[in-house]
Amino acid sequence: GFRMGIVGLPNVGKSTLFNALTKTAAAQAANFPFCTIEPNVGEVAVPDPRLDTLAAIAGSKQIIPTRITFVDIAGLVKGASKGEGLGNQFLANIRETDAIAHVLRCFEDGDITHVEGRVDPLADADVIETELMIADMESIERRLANLSRKLKGGDKDALDQDRLLRQALAVLNEGRPARTIAVSDDDRRAWDMLQLLTAKPVLFVCNVAEDEAANGNALSEKVREMAEAQGAGHVVISARIEEEISQLDAEEAQMFLGEMGLEEPGLDRLIRAGYSLLGLQTYFTVGPKEARAWTITKGTLAPQAAGVIHGDFEKGFIRSETIAYDDYVAGKGEAGAREAGKLRVEGKTYEVKDGDVLHFLFSG
Ligand code: GDP
Repeated sequence: GFRMGIVGLPNVGKSTLFNALTKTAAAQAANFPFCTIEPNVGEVAVPDPRLDTLAAIAGSKQIIPTRITFVDIAGLVKGASKGEGLGNQFLANIRETDAIAHVLRCFEDGDITHVEGRVDPLADADVIETELMIADMESIERRLANLSRKLKGGDKDALDQDRLLRQALAVLNEGRPARTIAVSDDDRRAWDMLQLLTAKPVLFVCNVAEDEAANGNALSEKVREMAEAQGAGHVVISARIEEEISQLDAEEAQMFLGEMGLEEPGLDRLIRAGYSLLGLQTYFTVGPKEARAWTITKGTLAPQAAGVIHGDFEKGFIRSETIAYDDYVAGKGEAGAREAGKLRVEGKTYEVKDGDVLHFLFSG
């Protein structure tokens, strides 16, 4: 599955957010830097109202949302790239994620210690980003040194790696993260294999006070500008509110949200923002037994989409009966959509669209 790492300086609200996300008490929030030392991992259902609509139409007994994994990566501080504050382990944890949710403290509270002694989300973002850039530069230098022998042999992969590493190093030396490099389709695979920390897509998460959750504040506004300038994602959230909501039942939560002037939990926005940051989309399988959502990357062809369900589906793929979500709803189900001529039979070269309701036919 897809993994998002939650990073940020100590005491910005990572654990509070992670706990709310996963509703576990495992990662305990405490006003104490380094309180969560082990990386905490939690799976979260991706909220998608379309799935409930499909299940209602088909009378599905079970609803199975698709999931995304969050990892609470604590302990990233100034000096982490030098191994301070248990830094190296954390950098290794970040390397294993597909994207980064970078939590920034945008709330004032004299009772909560700030490790740098002031509330300044842009400066905080810089501290973390600098550590990640230093870590990338060091790993690039090491790898370039290791490559030099292979280069003499004229190895094509080694030449590609060498070129990309040097390109990344030049950008990092200018103080910019590797994600600002426009990578060509041809280079994409080799680039991803480099696993640079600052090449991962970033979602900035502004943690604001409870009464600012609906509209943000001056600090979160600055973060928004910074994120937009870099092509990064951003979302405003109040970790405290999310913590409270996570302890309520659905009806109470809806009332509470209304009182706070919010349409939906911030976590729903966070998860969706992470989903789109990763270039992910959803297709559905719907029947009387279950309605289920599946995650694929944009551009995935039908056989590979089938392979997400089971490897055999991909190997023996014959065709896919396909109904767009809107057509399924308009036809009040598969039979109606079929009658309206909206059921398409698609083959191996079909690029699955977000919201497609699919039924795979396969041999074997
Ligand atoms: P972490 O070190 O980044 O994981 O931070 P925690 O989630 O442990 O939070 C540190 C402290 O800040 C805890 O006491 C939280 O209750 C508090 N905190 C988190 N979010 C907010 C917020 O939005 N407002 C206020 N006032 N306190 C918060």
